[in-house]
Amino acid sequence: MNALTLVCSKCGRESRADVNYLCDNCGGILEVRYGFRVDGADGLPRELLKDETQRGLWKYWRFLPVEREENRVSLDEGNTPLRRADRLGKALGLDRLYLKDETREPTGSFKDRPTAVAISKAKEFGATTVITASSGNAGAAAAAYAAAAGLECYTFVPAKAPVSKLTQIRMYGAHIVPISGNYSNSFRMALYAARKYGWLNVTTTHLNPYSVEGDKTISYEMFEQLEHDVPDWIVIPIGAGPLLTGIFRGYRELKSMGLISKLPRMVGAQADGCSPVAKAFREGKSAIDPWGAVTTIASGVSDPLTGYEQDGDYTLRHIIESGGMALSVSDEQIMRMAELLASKEGVYCESTAAVSAAVAQKMSAEGLVHADSSIVCLVTGSGLKDTDLYARHTPLSEPLDATEEAIDAFIRKVDPTIPL
Ligand SMILES: *Cc1c(COP(=O)(O)O)cnc(C)c1O
Ligand SMILES: [Zn+2]
Repeated sequence: MNALTLVCSKCGRESRADVNYLCDNCGGILEVRYGFRVDGADGLPRELLKDETQRGLWKYWRFLPVEREENRVSLDEGNTPLRRADRLGKALGLDRLYLKDETREPTGSFKDRPTAVAISKAKEFGATTVITASSGNAGAAAAAYAAAAGLECYTFVPAKAPVSKLTQIRMYGAHIVPISGNYSNSFRMALYAARKYGWLNVTTTHLNPYSVEGDKTISYEMFEQLEHDVPDWIVIPIGAGPLLTGIFRGYRELKSMGLISKLPRMVGAQADGCSPVAKAFREGKSAIDPWGAVTTIASGVSDPLTGYEQDGDYTLRHIIESGGMALSVSDEQIMRMAELLASKEGVYCESTAAVSAAVAQKMSAEGLVHADSSIVCLVTGSGLKDTDLYARHTPLSEPLDATEEAIDAFIRKVDPTIPL
């Protein structure tokens, strides 16, 4: 494997790929560079994109920053379905709607991709303890991969995170540290603890430059699943936005390899109650303001970006470069879409994951997209992550007596036209 380097996205300074987070010189976000050029000019055959002897995400190991095979930590992540959603598409007025179903990942969210890479890299650096700040899903992923790698794991989470996510983290055996206030508080405290105790920080914002490389494997998979076609639009629920950054990077690499000729337009999807990126986009700004009070059910994207605003700026830059947009939707629209995804497509996702399809619905309703454009919505996490929210939303009826009369009466209440 060729030598990896890190390049600052702001000042361009290059450094050796070490346990670095932000740029030493200017504090900018770092990007991984590989020892080959992805355009194939210096001899990388295109067929090397994929190694068929490996599974899932690790098929693409040549484009991932883990140098030695024995350091790879895997729970069989990746290789998720890309499904055509014709019933939902019809309801939204979209003829070519697809769902990239990340609810199927080992811990139930796409965070397994960035985390598999970050934990493998932590192992490569010889770390014995990792730490993450998370709204829940990245914490569950870090806890699971740390368990598989035999590392100690601390997860700093907002105390109000969904019960299912907090439970999952504890069952994987991580030290869970609930912190009051919103996600940015957990982020700041994890920075402090990582520095003070020398733990490796695998937080999945743009802080750890290795994790975002895992996100880009989604593009490689979709490239195959769409038989080398590029979708017109990709709609992604975003917090800080590394998922969007990674997917866009993946497509850029495919283009520079000459495998595709156009790039998708990237859409950042947020909830009205926490939408710093959508607000900046709407106002035509290139820099975001941190969000004030967070008020949304979409816990996975409840990131006010306080103290690391440049993450939002960086994501916004990719959205604009791609000719895309950033939009937000209300909690009512999100909840209705979560029900539609489940009842029309059989895809049970957490509220945060429904934000993308809710934004696609808005794009269609507002004429921002043609009916015949191809749109992929990322469905980023499982409905099992939001059991408490959905149980409150759809309360169970009182139990029936175990009698035939009670059953008949119940059925007739559902459909009075059924004959006795
Ligand atoms: C983390 C998360 C997101 C947002 O991803 P970022 O890459 O942090 O912007 C979206 N959906 C779910 C379910 C998440 O857990
Ligand atoms: Zn710099």
